[in-house]
Amino acid sequence: MDKSEDILSLNRDEMGAWMQRQGWPRYRGNQLFGALWRQRAATYEQISSWPKELRQTMSERAPFYRLQAVTVQKDRDGTRKILARLWDGQQVEIVVLPHNYGYSVCVSSQVGCNMGCKFCASGILKRTRNLTAGEMLDQVRLANDLISPEDRIISRVDLMGIGEPLDNYDNVIRFIKVAHDSQGFNLGYRHFTVSTSGLVPDIYRLAREHLPITLAVSLHAPNDALRSRLMPVNKAYPIDRLIAASKFYFEETGRRVSFEYALLAGINDSGEMAHQLADLLQGLSCHVNLIPWNPVPEHPFQPSQKKLVEEFQRIVQNRGISCTIRKEMGQDIEAACGQLRRREEELLSP
Ligand code: SF4
Repeated sequence: MDKSEDILSLNRDEMGAWMQRQGWPRYRGNQLFGALWRQRAATYEQISSWPKELRQTMSERAPFYRLQAVTVQKDRDGTRKILARLWDGQQVEIVVLPHNYGYSVCVSSQVGCNMGCKFCASGILKRTRNLTAGEMLDQVRLANDLISPEDRIISRVDLMGIGEPLDNYDNVIRFIKVAHDSQGFNLGYRHFTVSTSGLVPDIYRLAREHLPITLAVSLHAPNDALRSRLMPVNKAYPIDRLIAASKFYFEETGRRVSFEYALLAGINDSGEMAHQLADLLQGLSCHVNLIPWNPVPEHPFQPSQKKLVEEFQRIVQNRGISCTIRKEMGQDIEAACGQLRRREEELLSP
């Protein structure tokens, strides 16, 4: 796709400049931005305040494609999982989660993922391409469309779907900045979480953006031997470098770093590991998020017993580190990222 025609990825200023170059007043860019993200117009034809000539010209010069929902699964707890088709036929997953404060959406940043985490469903399908900022924005739009009958809009965005967000750095930052625009989704920076498997140089880069977004580091192991076994990225960026980068992130942004830790039975859930984790995080302003494991058919891991999860939490907390157990959501549907897309592709493959 010609980048100059990727209208969905432009910020409001760029849209104004683009309209001006086409011979229209700059304010038409503001109107277009609001129509695309506030009113969620599906076509130029739906921008009824525009003259017919402008709608026609734009349809010819800058056509855009809206993500199409292929399937929507809804769980009893209100979690929705969407499989959505991109313009080139590729598919991504979007998860919409209900909370007491409203809804959050878990956005995918790549088609597939190359990080190769051993417990992950998404990593089974290798990265095909990065998503553009417009394609990430359109995931939020699609989620908003789904919940709008309830008179709600998305109020939090987690970049925790398929892909390693920091491996698609420029598009992810553009997405966040455009979604923050008050004339669009108007999402405060504090309402974004970017997760990473541990791309240390990009954590430093993100820290230097000085955006008050939450960084969630997928840790999952408290020592290098185990982490390198579970997450190959650890061989390039071992734990001491990851912790140093996380400290820097807090110092630069003032935002407490969240460490994600999925508990796998007999692998990383012992009391000794809990103490190792507490040793590692001493003195760091952070939060530990323990994740009850959702089994993936292709992987051998099993969920830890509830009492072990609680014991793990107790040890970490008693060592003075904030630690919670993530509420299990979407248990009725295939909730591990990548499961839905993979199953669909299995059905489609000969
Ligand atoms: S856990 Fe995240 S980074 Fe790791 S393979 Fe899965 S999608 Fe990629």
